[in-house]
Formats: sequence, C-alpha cells, structure tokens
Amino acid sequence: MTNIVNHWIGGKTAEGASGTYGPVTNPATGEVTTKVAFASVDEVDAAVAAAKEAYLTWGQSSLAQRTSILFTFRALLDAHRDEIAELITAEHGKVHSDALGEVARGLEIVDLACGISVQLKGELSTQVATRVDVASIRQPLGVVAGITPFNFPAMVPLWMFPLAIACGNTFVLKPSEKDPSAAVKLAELLSEAGLPDGVFNVVHGDKVAVDRLLEHPDVQAVSFVGSTPIARYIHTTASAHGKRVQALGGAKNHMLVLPDADLDAAADAAVSAAYGSAGERCMAISAVVAVGAVGDTLVEKIRERAEKIKIGPGTDPSSEMGPLITKAHRDKVASYVEGAAAEGCEVVLDGTGYTVEGHENGHWIGLSLLDRVPTGAKAYRDEIFGPVLCVLRAETYEEGVALINASPFGNGTAIFTRDGGAARRFQLEIEAGMVGVNVPIPVPVGYHSFGGWKDSLFGDHHIYGNDGTHFYTRGKVVTTRWPDPADAPAGVDLGFPRNH
Ligand code: NAD
Repeated sequence: MTNIVNHWIGGKTAEGASGTYGPVTNPATGEVTTKVAFASVDEVDAAVAAAKEAYLTWGQSSLAQRTSILFTFRALLDAHRDEIAELITAEHGKVHSDALGEVARGLEIVDLACGISVQLKGELSTQVATRVDVASIRQPLGVVAGITPFNFPAMVPLWMFPLAIACGNTFVLKPSEKDPSAAVKLAELLSEAGLPDGVFNVVHGDKVAVDRLLEHPDVQAVSFVGSTPIARYIHTTASAHGKRVQALGGAKNHMLVLPDADLDAAADAAVSAAYGSAGERCMAISAVVAVGAVGDTLVEKIRERAEKIKIGPGTDPSSEMGPLITKAHRDKVASYVEGAAAEGCEVVLDGTGYTVEGHENGHWIGLSLLDRVPTGAKAYRDEIFGPVLCVLRAETYEEGVALINASPFGNGTAIFTRDGGAARRFQLEIEAGMVGVNVPIPVPVGYHSFGGWKDSLFGDHHIYGNDGTHFYTRGKVVTTRWPDPADAPAGVDLGFPRNH
C-alpha cells in the first residue's frame, strides 16, 4: 500500500484522525493501491465548521468575485482533464476515453456556473400599487452537502458544487469511498483557482460520515446521488432533520424499438448504451423492448456487435470496456446471469467466464445478453449495474409502453422509430424523467436539468440546470414603498393590505 487519501478541510489536507481506513482497489489488477481515511463525527463537524466560517464572507461575496474564480477553475479543470481521467481509471476501472467523457460532461456544469449572474438576476415589478415596487431575489442557503456514488467520481460532484458555490453557498462533499482521489484533485484545483479556504471541503468515509451530515444542524441542504435504497434513506433522514433534499437513485432504463426503426442504428445504440462503462451507469440501457416481429433480427444484430467488444484494462487504448468496481460486485452481476436460464430467460451471450490474460485478479466479466426475459425474472426486476442486457418482447407499442411504465424506476428511457407521431406520443405517455428519441442515453446538457421519476429520484428538484440554482437558493420577495412628500398621510387602516 503506497498512498493515503486524506480529507480536505479549510483549504488544506487534513490527515485522518479516526484511525479507520478503507481500501481503494485498482479494479483491473485487483490490487489494493491506496487507503482512504474514514471520517469520524468530529472530523465531519470540523469540515462543517470550516464551511460555516467561510460562509460568513463567501455568502456576502459579489457575483463578479465568484464567477471570476469559477472561470479560472474551468481553465484548470480543462488543463487537467487527462490527469483526472487517469485517477478515475486507476480507481474505477473505466477506460480512459470514457473517463475523459465524464470530465467533459462535468465541465458543462462549470460553464453553467460561470454564467450564474444571468440565472440569479431576479425579477422586479414596478408600480404594483401607487409608488410600490416588488422585487423577487434568491439568496444562498449556507452550508450544503453532497454525497456521491462510485460510478462518476468526478462528474457527479461536478453536477453539484459548481452551482452551489456560484450561488454563494459553501460545500462539504462526501465522495464514494471506492474511488476518492478525483474529488481531492477537484478540491486542489478549486484552491489553485483562488477559492477561499473552507468554501469547498471533502470528507471521506462511510455511513458514519453520511449520517453526521444528514443530522448536522448547520447543514441546510443535502444533494445525494446513488442507489435507490440509500437515496430513500437519505431523503427520509435528512428531511426529518429539516433539510432540503434531492436524492437521485438507481435505474432500469428501457429502450423501445418499434418495427419501423433503423435496426442497425438501434443495435449500435443498444450495445453502446448497455455495455459502455461495463453497464455501471445510471443511464445505461439495461432492457430493450422489441415490438412486433423485429425481436429476432435485433437480438442477432446486438449479439454480433457485442461479441466484438474488446475488454481490458482502462489504461490500454484498445480496450472498449473495463472491469467492474469490486470483486463482490462482479460476483453479484455474474449471479444474475447464472440464474437467468432457470428463470425462463434465453441466454444468448454468457460473459461470466471471462478473464483478461496477465490480469487474472482483475474484476472481469464479459458481455451477457438475455432474450425473452420474463418481467418476473430477477435479472429484469433488479438494477444489475453490470454488462447484462435484457431483451423483452411486446406485440404492440401500447404493450411496450405499459411494460416500461410498470417499472418502479423512471430515470431515462428511449424510443427508436422513424415515426414522428409515435415518438411524440411516447414523450407524453412515458413515465420517466429523461426521454431519448433515437438517442439511447439522453443525459441532458448542463442548462437543462437531470433527474428521474418514481424510485429514481426522491425530492422535488432535478439536479443542475435551473432546478440546481433553485435548489441551492431560497426566495425572498421585497415590497417597497417610497412615498412622495406630497402624499397625504395614509393613516391607520387595520384592513388587509390592498393594491390600488
Ligand atoms: P451507493 O448508494 O451504494 O453509495 C452512494 C453514496 O452513499 C456513497 O458515497 C456511499 O458511501 C454512501 N452510502 C452507501 N451506503 C450507505 C448507507 N448505508 N448509509 C449512508 N450512506 C451510504 O451507490 P454506489 O454503488 O456508489 O453507486 C451506484 C448507484 O448509484 C446505482 O444504483 C446507480 O444507478 C446510482 N446512480 C444514480 C445516478 C442518478 O443520477 N440517478 C447517477 C449515478 C449513479
């Protein structure tokens, strides 16, 4: 073990004081490369105290001061793309090009935050009554917290903190303990960009650290992204402690393929979206619903493409798919494929025996394709979060939509068709937060918001976009009268104020 990942509190490294550490593993080799400090309650309290202290001045800083730092941070992030991507590959396992993609999508939110002045312009109505004006403004909340998952160690934190700090809040991030280094690098770059100490803090750890953030009286709001059971817990617990909460959960994203679709394009899209990042994406397509007679042809086209995907270490430029995050997760993913035939699925491709020569201890699994999957099968019901694609059959468009809408999840969904009328109907009828029309992974751009429905999101706000600005601020409405010296005295009036 060569390295320790420490907390970042008050603008500098804070060595772990709890004596508890977690292992960080290189998924391509299975080797523990680093250990990460787990924060105690006292360490979380120190981070919140640093953020609270910094808020006294950051909350009063001008928009020009905040955006100037964010522009500098944007340039630094851009310049360090490769380095951050390398950290991600070393701890998460995804291939370098995919890691670069995640940094690029995170940068979009920094772009948005650089333009926060436009979003915070407020509204003014003059002369709502005689010599009375009304202004609506939005103000920061104070200290806010972010808790993030392993699968996007840079992008998901970047969904949160640029907007939060642009709005004048200070931030405490608890990144995933499985791949913590990217978050620390982001903290260092923010500091280099001139962010005052304490505005952005990182505490690592497990449930101890998370629970303290959820109950801490000085934390005003919690943004969470992770699995559905934990999202539900975060939403319930933080709400019970009086906090504003947005908790984004897991997914089972469907792709409906109508008989008139371009089947080659649909097969390309299904393979890219199902197996990219080894299926460890909340927007991965994990269920294809083939409508009418196209099923057999579509499955064959997916199989042909899936068989050609090159699996290997993320550091090898020829690898298209890397390993899974942990050995335990690899084994869990494999168990769904191993049990599939007994549950009535046709196993078209079985990736469970796959390994990479020279890297036998890596968390490898090949691509699996299950056809004619019954809706009762575990492989369909659960979010597998691995490279396993289920194909289901539906006779009609209506049957396909009913099947998708019966899912408890509602993150992303896609339709593949050449029929504009059907696509339009789908957009209106489908119960999901993000819809793609011939686009398999419809992750919205930064200036629109990201979020699912049903068990994929708990809370009222989607993340980033206008929803992000709204989440990290609260409204205030100021009604002003400047009487004219010539006005007669209003006198006492106990009636409810009326405008005239
Ligand atoms: P996870 O829920 O296990 O962990 C997320 C965070 O919660 C981590 O920081 C972790 O330390 C913490 N945590 C875990 N168990 C906890 C507990 N019992 N109490 C308090 N905190 C706890 O998720 P993960 O495995 O890191 O990430 C994968 C999941 O995230 C998938 O379900 C995926 O769909 C989901 N995800 C969703 C989105 C989205 O936008 N909806 C985006 C990315 C990932």
